[in-house]
Amino acid sequence: MELTKRQERIVEIVKKEGPITGRQIAEQLSLIRATLRPDLTLLTMAGILEARPRVGYYFTGKTPVNFAAQAVQRIKVGDVKSVPAVIRENATVYDAVVTMFLEDIGTLFVVKEGGYLEGVISRKDLLKTAMGGSDLHKMPIGVIMTRMPNLITTTPEEPVILAAKKLTSREVDALPVVRAVTAPDGKEELEVVGRITKTTITRLFVELGEGK
Ligand code: ADP
Repeated sequence: MELTKRQERIVEIVKKEGPITGRQIAEQLSLIRATLRPDLTLLTMAGILEARPRVGYYFTGKTPVNFAAQAVQRIKVGDVKSVPAVIRENATVYDAVVTMFLEDIGTLFVVKEGGYLEGVISRKDLLKTAMGGSDLHKMPIGVIMTRMPNLITTTPEEPVILAAKKLTSREVDALPVVRAVTAPDGKEELEVVGRITKTTITRLFVELGEGK
């Protein structure tokens, strides 16, 4: 939501002098009260100002910017996650390259029996291995993947803003979305239920910017 210049000035006046009546605001702007009515209605409906009968308008502390922030903070990882691409630990580096192309994806999650998370393999891990000159048809990805417990993960309930922070602060392209479960053998495991990537966040950013 974007405020007009006049609405911004009204907010400034109320911030400084509130509670203040509509008539007093109008006087300060050298306008008549009726001219301001639509602006005051809009600012009140948006929650930026609050009107108290016989007292006047006062500033609620909310701004259009932190409205947007509040809207973003309500979005959970589970609302925007996409389908993960997984591979088994004994697959070869060559298999991983093929899977990345077929799935059109830059990061694969390595899972064991039951779909439980074991590791992560990124495009860059594969490039590094290719540079090393080993036989890509023989080398298992288990040797080169980043493994538990060093994985950075997220959960469906986590606010997407926190997942986005993990992507930027830890400098990775993708996070596995996981759910803690007890496996049939009694061990605590992480079941992979989705993926959050820089693309997920970029898409969300575009949608929010377009007001969707
Ligand atoms: P960038 O392209 O920003 O360098 P990558 O996604 O290529 O980031 O990851 C860099 C390194 O971090 C790789 O070795 C990869 O295995 C590892 N990695 C990727 N995603 C994760 C994750 N979610 N948790 C832990 N390590 C990860």
